[in-house]
Amino acid sequence: MKAEEESAEGLKQRFTQRYSRHGSKLDRAVQTALGRCVKEHLFLPSKRRVYTVVGNLGDEFIDPEKPYCSCSNFFFRGLGQKGELCYHLLSYVIASESGLVDTTTFSDEEYELLMAALVSDVFHILDTSGSSPRQV
Ligand SMILES: [Zn+2]
Repeated sequence: MKAEEESAEGLKQRFTQRYSRHGSKLDRAVQTALGRCVKEHLFLPSKRRVYTVVGNLGDEFIDPEKPYCSCSNFFFRGLGQKGELCYHLLSYVIASESGLVDTTTFSDEEYELLMAALVSDVFHILDTSGSSPRQV
C-alpha cells in the first residue's frame, strides 16, 4: 500500500479538470478520500458490495453506478438529474481511482443487520439536518 504517498495537491490536480465545475466540493472530496472515509463493505460469498462515505453527520449511503447518494444535498438539489455529484460521490471516484477505498469484509448473513444500521443512520441525519420534508 503506497496510498500515503498521494498528496492532497496531487490528487486535486489529477481530478481538477474533470470536475472543475464542482468547485470547492472537490477539495472536500480529496480530504475525504485521503482520510480513508470511503468504505466498501464487501459481502461474501455473494460479493455484493455496499459503499458508504463517513461524513460530518454520519454515514451516507452511496451507489456509484446510478449514481445515488443518501445525503440531503443530492436529494434536494436533484444533483443526479443534472449529472452533478455531491462530494460523497466525488470522494468515491477519487478514492476508487487512487486505491484509497477502505474495504471491510462481511458475511452475507450480516447484510441485513448492516443495512438496517445504515438506514437508521441516514434517517437520523435527515431528522437532525432540519431540512427533511414531512412527506417523502
Ligand atoms: Zn452525498
